[in-house]
Amino acid sequence: MRPFEYASPATVQEAIDLLGPTWNDAELLAGGTDLLSLMKDDVVAPKRVVSLRRITSLKRIEVTPTVVRIGALVTMEELTQAPEVAAKFPSLVIAAGGVTSPQIRHHGTVGGDLCQRPRCWYFRAGYGILATGADGQPLVPRGDNRYHAIFPEGNAYYVCPSSLAPALAALEASVVLQSPEGERRVPVEEFYRIPRTNEEREYVRQPREVLVAVEIPNTGLKNATYEIRQRQLLDWPLATASVALRVDGGKVVSARVFLGHVAPRPYRATAAEATLMGAPLDEERIAAAARAAVQGARPLSGNQYKVQLAATAVKRALSSLI
Ligand SMILES: Cc1cc2nc3c(=O)[nH]c(=O)nc-3n(C[C@H](O)[C@H](O)[C@H](O)COP(=O)(O)OP(=O)(O)OC[C@H]3O[C@@H](n4cnc5c(N)ncnc54)[C@H](O)[C@@H]3O)c2cc1C
Repeated sequence: MRPFEYASPATVQEAIDLLGPTWNDAELLAGGTDLLSLMKDDVVAPKRVVSLRRITSLKRIEVTPTVVRIGALVTMEELTQAPEVAAKFPSLVIAAGGVTSPQIRHHGTVGGDLCQRPRCWYFRAGYGILATGADGQPLVPRGDNRYHAIFPEGNAYYVCPSSLAPALAALEASVVLQSPEGERRVPVEEFYRIPRTNEEREYVRQPREVLVAVEIPNTGLKNATYEIRQRQLLDWPLATASVALRVDGGKVVSARVFLGHVAPRPYRATAAEATLMGAPLDEERIAAAARAAVQGARPLSGNQYKVQLAATAVKRALSSLI
């Protein structure tokens, strides 16, 4: 690991003042469960590490009549234990609880989960986020791609590693970003983007912005997540589905279906949503939605199996709401 300066501010404003205009100037540290690995592997090499741990305002969960606001430093474990979250957003509790290691759940934070970097082994080995070879061409389609995207975008073949992101996107949540210019809200669905170069990040957050909270509208949607993992050990899921529905008069009147771990950003399965609309949520309709969810998948040489897993995740997430 390269030498770096360490700062431990007490307020968000002080933290922002310690950040710089480029990612090389500074990185934020929350639980450190991802950042420290990235630094040890020399994937990132900030001159300064700015710890958020002393900023108590980021550790709160607040419930108002319109939103539930979850501070960026709330840990995954605290999220699974919060009664106000469990009552309204079981989908989120399942996603956070799915992080199988108790150590990671106790240290890893909501902000860190959303900003963790992709697990693509080419990226982690120093080939850049777009994993390009010496010939400038992507390595993933011709390499070991068993955990990569079945819905790649452009030259981005990695999968978004956050389990919270699809659940939050389905719930129409936004992240709150604070910078020297003030505060802005970005829907989780729009937080991730496709980098054009290896120097760009895979999210819209800028180097001087702190993700301070996540806000979930309090709109009473029925919601669920279903995750499929290779084994109940220390690993990320292979495919997940998060759904949020409103049922009125026995029929689905609004539907949001997001797949996780199959695309560089949470994948919105609009064809599945359309299949559900205006009909009762029954077994036949759920099976049709599951098939529709994976329409257009473009699996690689080693990850065809993920197509069936993603469809099954949609089926099981929806079935849990009947
Ligand atoms: C064995 C193992 C299994 C795992 N399984 C899963 C899983 O199944 N699902 C899943 O979703 N995750 C999984 N994870 C990832 C884990 O959830 C993340 O490592 C953790 O949530 C990151 O949080 P952190 O607070 O430790 O972040 P850090 O490591 O401190 O930071 C991670 C990144 O986010 C940035 N960051 C942190 N906080 C903020 C903020 N408030 N504002 C802006 N940027 C910020 C940092 O600069 C850094 O780039 C797993 C990790 C391990 C090691």
